[in-house]
Amino acid sequence: MPPPAQHEEFDAADGEASKYAEHAPKLAEFLCSFHSDDLRHILLHPESTLHFPLVIDFAELLDFDPGLAKILYNDPKGFLPDFDSAAQRAQSEVLCILKKCEALGNPDEPRPSAVQKGFVHVRVNVCGSPLEFPESSPSIGKVRVKHRGILLTLKGTVIRSGGVKMIEGKRWYQCRKCNCRFRCYPELEAGNRITLPASCPSMVFHFLFLIEEFKRLSKCFFPIDRR
Ligand SMILES: [Zn+2]
Repeated sequence: MPPPAQHEEFDAADGEASKYAEHAPKLAEFLCSFHSDDLRHILLHPESTLHFPLVIDFAELLDFDPGLAKILYNDPKGFLPDFDSAAQRAQSEVLCILKKCEALGNPDEPRPSAVQKGFVHVRVNVCGSPLEFPESSPSIGKVRVKHRGILLTLKGTVIRSGGVKMIEGKRWYQCRKCNCRFRCYPELEAGNRITLPASCPSMVFHFLFLIEEFKRLSKCFFPIDRR
């Protein structure tokens, strides 16, 4: 089942995800220029519900547009969701080209049909880029507060590993009173606990509630003759 339509009241509170939306065309151009083969493989994959990584080279992004690379370095948490959105845009563009090629090709030749995938996540390869310099690649004992929030490269040896586990990324809730739908994000640091808002995020509901309350109170009072 597709996720429910996002409630408009929550859009404003969720502004973080579209902070860099203006860069989406440029990011899509980068993905189409450097990763059209990867995009084609993703589009032609038979499983539509899988999550697909799209690994970009930080060094290539830096060459393509230093400004975008700088944003990615300084605010990866805010920027990567918009990079994922750009991957959707890039998929659409490559899909158009594939469909045109399909139309021109031999109709008798069996081909897997290309389908846009909903879950494509941009991942960053830092090899050969300035992110390997000591400033952004400190040893684990030298990680300080100043490194918080930036794209950091940590190198080490894995001494123990477990199976891959699924971590819940977000959950949808619906208000019983006004049916407002909103998203909540689990806190990874707090054992993936979800903190629910103290009140419904829908301002419309609160406005309607105030009107009802005003009507109710207005019935409690009546005019008096002060003569
Ligand atoms: Zn509500």
